[in-house]
Amino acid sequence: MKNYDYLVVGSGLFGAVFTYEAMKRGKSVLVIDKRNHIAGNIYTKEEDGINVHVYGAHIFHTSDKKIWEYMNQFAEFNNYINSPVAVYGDELYNLPFNMNTFSKMWGIKTPAEAKAKIAEQIKELNITEPKNLEEQALSLVGTDVYEKLIKGYTQKQWGRPCDELPAFIIKRLPLRFTYDNNYFNDRFQGIPIGGYTQIVEKMLEGADVVLEQDYFKLAESGKLVDGSEVSWDKLLFTGQIDEYYDSCFGPLEYRSVRFETEKLNEENYQGNAVVNYTAADVPYTRIIEHKHFEFGKQPTTIISKEYSSEWKPGVEPYYPVNNDKNNAVYEKYAEKASKEDNVIFGGRLGQYKYYDMDKVVAAALACVEVEL
Ligand SMILES: Cc1cc2nc3c(=O)[nH]c(=O)nc-3n(C[C@H](O)[C@H](O)[C@H](O)COP(=O)(O)OP(=O)(O)OC[C@H]3O[C@@H](n4cnc5c(N)ncnc54)[C@H](O)[C@@H]3O)c2cc1C
Repeated sequence: MKNYDYLVVGSGLFGAVFTYEAMKRGKSVLVIDKRNHIAGNIYTKEEDGINVHVYGAHIFHTSDKKIWEYMNQFAEFNNYINSPVAVYGDELYNLPFNMNTFSKMWGIKTPAEAKAKIAEQIKELNITEPKNLEEQALSLVGTDVYEKLIKGYTQKQWGRPCDELPAFIIKRLPLRFTYDNNYFNDRFQGIPIGGYTQIVEKMLEGADVVLEQDYFKLAESGKLVDGSEVSWDKLLFTGQIDEYYDSCFGPLEYRSVRFETEKLNEENYQGNAVVNYTAADVPYTRIIEHKHFEFGKQPTTIISKEYSSEWKPGVEPYYPVNNDKNNAVYEKYAEKASKEDNVIFGGRLGQYKYYDMDKVVAAALACVEVEL
C-alpha cells in the first residue's frame, strides 16, 4: 500500500496550486478527479488548432501583480482584452455599459448627455426602496439599459422573471462614462497561449494523478480504480462540501450551465469571442467563438451556445446560489469543517463561493501558508 502526505480531491486550479506548492516543499501528493481530464472548469481542449474552453469562456484577469507573475510561470499570456458585444433583436451594443453603448442607444455623444438621460429615466420611475431585482436594476440604470440589456439576460440566467428575483443579486451596475469596451477594470488580463490545461499539467508534474476516480468510492473501499490500495495523512477536498457531509444539514443550491458546441465550416462566425444575447426569446445567454481568444486564423471555427439551467443532483454545479437560506446552511457545514484535523476544504465547491481564477490562486496560496 502506498501512503501519501496529501490526497487532493479535484484537479482544478485550487487543487493544482496546492499540489504544486506541497510538492515544492517535499510532500507526496495523490490527485484524483472524477472527470476524465485534469484542470476542472478551466480545462481547454485543442480541436482543429483551436483551444476550446469546454466549461465556458475563461478570461484571466487580476490586479494582483504577484498572482499575475505566479500564473506567468506556467504559461505565456497573450494580450486578449475581453470586449463582449450584446445582441438585442436587430440591435447590437458594446459591453460593459459605456459611452459606446449609450451613444448607440440614444444617439448622444458626451458623458453629460448620457448621465442626463439615465438620471431622467431613473427620476421618472420614482423607486425609493427596490423590492426586487427589476426595481433594483431600474433604479440604478433607468428603463432603456434595463429593458434591452439586463432584463431578458438575467431572467435566463436565473430561470425566473426579474420581478420575482431578490434585489440583492444586483448590488451595483457599473456605468462607464468613457468610450472603453474593456470589460474588466483589472491591470492584468489575457489568455494563456496554448490554453489553460498546460498550466495545470505543469502544476501537477511529479504528482500521482488518477482520473475517473470518485472520492467517495475511494473512501469507501480504500482502493483506486485500478485496484491498488492507497492511504493518506491529510485530505484536501475541492468538491461539494455538502456532498462530503452527505447533505446532513440539507443540500446547497447551485445554478448550472449547458454548453452546445459545434464546428462551423466558415472562418469567422461572429467576429468576437463573446456575444451576449440579451432578449428573453433567444434561449441561450451567450455564444462563445473560441478562436478569437487567441486571435486564431484557422479556416474553420468552433462556437458554444451557453444555456443557463436548473441544477439538480447529478448535474454539474457551476454557480453557488449565495442567498440567505443557502449561506446559513453553508455556515453549518463550515462550522463542522473547522473542527476537522485532517481535512481541508478549498475552491469554489469546497467553500461554496463564486471565485474568479485569480482569487482561487490567492486562496490556494493562502491555504498553503497556513498548512505548509
Ligand atoms: C461558466 C464559467 C465561466 C467562468 N469564467 C471565468 C473567467 O472568465 N475568469 C475567471 O477568473 N474565472 C472564471 N470562472 C471561475 C473559474 O472557473 C473558477 O475560479 C475555477 O475553475 C475554480 O477552480 P476550483 O479548483 O475551485 O474548482 P473546479 O475547477 O470546479 O475543480 C474541482 C474539481 O473537483 C472535482 N471533483 C468534485 N467532486 C469530486 C469527487 N467527489 N471526487 C473526485 N473529484 C471531484 C471536479 O470534477 C473538478 O474537476 C468561471 C466559472 C464558470 C462556471
